[in-house]
Amino acid sequence: RFIAFEGGEGTGKSTQARRLAESLAARGIDAVLTREPGGTVGAEAIRSLLLSPPGEGWDAPAEALLFAAARADHVARLIRPALAAGQWVVCDRFVDSSRAYQGGAGGIGDEAVQQLHAIGSGGLRPDLTLLIEVPAEVAAERIARRDGSRTDAIGGRDADYHARVADAFRAIAGQARSVRAIDGNAPADEVHDRVLRAIEPLVED
Ligand code: C5P
Repeated sequence: RFIAFEGGEGTGKSTQARRLAESLAARGIDAVLTREPGGTVGAEAIRSLLLSPPGEGWDAPAEALLFAAARADHVARLIRPALAAGQWVVCDRFVDSSRAYQGGAGGIGDEAVQQLHAIGSGGLRPDLTLLIEVPAEVAAERIARRDGSRTDAIGGRDADYHARVADAFRAIAGQARSVRAIDGNAPADEVHDRVLRAIEPLVED
């Protein structure tokens, strides 16, 4: 089983991905928790390039190619082998992030992102994608409260960019049954319960 968490910054998706992996382990399910960009040595190296670009930053096409390259390595070296071994994979971000950020907000377009994903990763889709949504003001407040030493965001993006990301995620959630939107504007325990309810059909299968 392959489950991806999606959402903008400050939505709490990383916390929820970790909590789900812990709950699965407690139920005796062998689950691997991983993240994008990253998850393998090569993909973590590309993550560093994305977060600390040498020079003036990446424009959208280069950024899309770097994300696709990181994902290709992650899929080939970690995700597919884990799934083949019967493990569950819980991934903090996957291709729908590229569709929302580079495709939607960055203006590359959905088709180009999907083509890169087909070339790089054989078009692999999660069994279930959980889109964690919170209002923009709540996300902004949570980011402001974070430890200032955190440098794990791509800089130079304004509120308008993030609004386009949120809109693109919304549209993606409306298109596919395998993408479920979850209201993340609640205490973490409550959001976790919503996540558990959403994944229950996969456990019973
Ligand atoms: O999920 P995380 O916060 O670790 O993501 C790191 C940075 O990469 C964030 O700034 C996020 O918005 C950005 N990102 C992106 N496009 C993606 C995935 C992540 O711009 N496809």
